[in-house]
Amino acid sequence: MARIRAKDTKPELALRQAVHAEGARFRVHVSTLPGRPDLANRRAKVAVFVDGCFWHGCPKHFVVPRTRAEFWREKVRRNQARRRAVRELYVGWRVVEVYECTIARDSARAGEAIAKLLVRAAD
Ligand SMILES: [Zn+2]
Repeated sequence: MARIRAKDTKPELALRQAVHAEGARFRVHVSTLPGRPDLANRRAKVAVFVDGCFWHGCPKHFVVPRTRAEFWREKVRRNQARRRAVRELYVGWRVVEVYECTIARDSARAGEAIAKLLVRAAD
């Protein structure tokens, strides 16, 4: 079953803009890499996933819906398990997972941290 994942969400765009402002370069929605990271740079070996607080069970913001609670719990569990499996495929890479709320809180700071990884590794 395909995961419902919006492309170009607001936090994702904010993060991209912040990383770009730091002078780091990357590709977006890289379908040739495992899990199709939202940002990636092969040379730097960095893959970044922007995770929705609901779909990925953010400890601060995930609230189990009242209806079909077990279905949603299981759904989030599976998303997390899938991500763990994806991570294992990135041997020698830095895999960064950012909850949307982290970006919403301070996108410049989140962007700066990721830009550092990208720039440092890419030479
Ligand atoms: Zn959150």
